[in-house]
Parts: sequence; structure tokens; C-alpha cells
Amino acid sequence: MDDHSITICDTTIAPGTQAIIDLPVSPLYTQTPMNIPVHVINGKKPGPVLLVCAAVHGDEINGVEIIRRLLNKRLLKSLEGTLIAVPIVNIFGFIYHSRYLPDRRDLNRSFPGSKEGSMASRMSYIFMHEILEQCTHGIDFHTGGAHRTYLPQVHANLTKKKTLRLAKAFGVPVLLDVKEQDNSLRAVAAKYKIPFLIYEAGEALRLDELSIRVGLKGILNVMRELKMLKKTAHATLRAKPFIAHSSTWLRAEQSGLLLSPMALGHRVLKKQILAHIADPISGKSTEVLSPTKGIIIGRTHLPLVNEGDALFQIAKFEKSKKVLAEVQEFHSAHLDEDDALNY
Ligand SMILES: [Zn+2]
Repeated sequence: MDDHSITICDTTIAPGTQAIIDLPVSPLYTQTPMNIPVHVINGKKPGPVLLVCAAVHGDEINGVEIIRRLLNKRLLKSLEGTLIAVPIVNIFGFIYHSRYLPDRRDLNRSFPGSKEGSMASRMSYIFMHEILEQCTHGIDFHTGGAHRTYLPQVHANLTKKKTLRLAKAFGVPVLLDVKEQDNSLRAVAAKYKIPFLIYEAGEALRLDELSIRVGLKGILNVMRELKMLKKTAHATLRAKPFIAHSSTWLRAEQSGLLLSPMALGHRVLKKQILAHIADPISGKSTEVLSPTKGIIIGRTHLPLVNEGDALFQIAKFEKSKKVLAEVQEFHSAHLDEDDALNY
């Protein structure tokens, strides 16, 4: 029999078995041990080794819930290949409701890390060597930062054929073609030639039901594409994907209160009024005009803005009318699902 056992931190998970392994990180100064729990489900039959991970930024929690729901799925019993699921990578930031690690280190700028470095650097190092190196594919779950929200979307280097296939399979309408950020988990995955997606949806420190449902469906769609799960008889919710090769953040030209009815997924035209910024002292307000046509894929939720603050992210598409229709249909289909309150 083909032995596709997998070993993490000296624990071997045989085919047809599963385990939760604790990846050790430096203890805190209270001598409190700190571990990253890693779920490994090793299917009876060999196949791809898929990594799904969340909360690399500790305050981005939609992915934590997406992975929880994934791990409760009965269909994983018939898994082919191996699923490695890490619901909370930055365990320190998760406790502190923070994006960062001590010394304001960003884990997603600390790869490949080192054995002797800061906590962020050590976390990167062990995650890379014990987990990432063993994987054939990966999906990392993120959200916008504090007070910043994203339309459900996939970010990936879409110039790579295998990555493009995975991104399309995920099944969201909006794909953003972006190069790997230096020292990110995705950048190291690229070095190992692992097709790797980032799912961005919702905002930090909030659970957003639509983002969670779309993300969960996305993993299952990818697993079906990779033949880790059987194709279902009934139609799955999978959007027609549209690729944006560029996007731009519109920034505030003056300080004040941001007043805007513009929601995520809105289609905008060049020079369209997206918002007003009102001066709470003089009472005057000025218009904020869109610099381009496209679809709003990100926006701030904080109405208190200073000059230069990022307000709206607009992605450029060749066929933005079609994107708009697809986004609207896709989102309402997800929110109409029967198992709405089946957590
Ligand atoms: Zn993030």
C-alpha cells in the first residue's frame, strides 16, 4: 500500500487517521506555553496535501470560523489526500485582538523567519518547515484591517497556470491578480512552487456570515477540483470568475466626516460622486469623485477621516456591468441558503 503518512513535530499521522498536533512557539514571560494547534486529516487514499490556515493576522477572524465549519463537515470522512487545517496561526495576536506579534511584528512579513529570531520570526520558521514544506496547495484566509472591509475576493498570482485554476475553482466572482508580497507566507509558498490563494473578505474583529459561507464553499470547491472530495450531484454555488489586474485605493483629499451610501460590490463610473467629506466645524462639505470606473471591493467603515486616509478600493474590470450582476446574484444565492442558521 502506498504510505502517505505525514509527520509533524515527530508525530506521524498514518493514512486513514487524524490528529491535532501542537506546534510549539516560544513560551510567554509568564512561562505560559504557546502552541499553534494543527489539525491533520489524512485520507485513506493518497492525493494532494492542502493547507488551509487563518488568523496569520491575529485579529482577522472570519477564517477561524470558516475552518471550524469545515472541520465539522462529515464529507471529510471520504477525503482523498491530506487536509492540514490551522485555524489560528498567530495565536498571540488572536488572544490580544491584534494583527501583530510582540514588537509589532507582522507575521505575514516575517517569512521565512529563523530559529533564533523574534517570536514572529520563530513562528514563521517552524510553520514553514513543519507545515508548508509538506503541502502541495494552500489557501490563507484574511480580512480587511481594522475598520476596513472587503468584498469576498481571491488574491493570487494569476499568471501561474495552476494557481489560476485553483482561483477559478474557488468560485468567487472577483479575482485580483497580485504578485506575492515580500516575506509573506504566499511568497514562501511561491518559492516551493505551491499554488497558493489568499481569500480576503469582511473586516478585522468581526464575523461576517456572507464572507464565512463564501469562504467555506470556496474550500470545498477547491477540494473537489483537486479530487480530494467527490463532485456533488447537485449544483454547487460557484460564481463565474472575473479577473482584475489592477485596483486603486481612493484617498481622502481633506479631513472630516465621511458620508457615503456606497457599499461593497457597487459599480462606479469615472468622476462619479462616491461620498462627501463634511467639515464638522465649518459645516461645509466637499465631493469625493471616483478616479476610475470599476467595482468597489474594499472600503473604510470609519467615518472619521484625515487627509490621505484610504476610503474606497476600486478594482478595474473590462466588463464591470457583468461583474456587478454576478456579484449580486452570487451573494443573494449564498444568503438565501436553507441551512442559514445551521452553525
Ligand atoms: Zn491579513
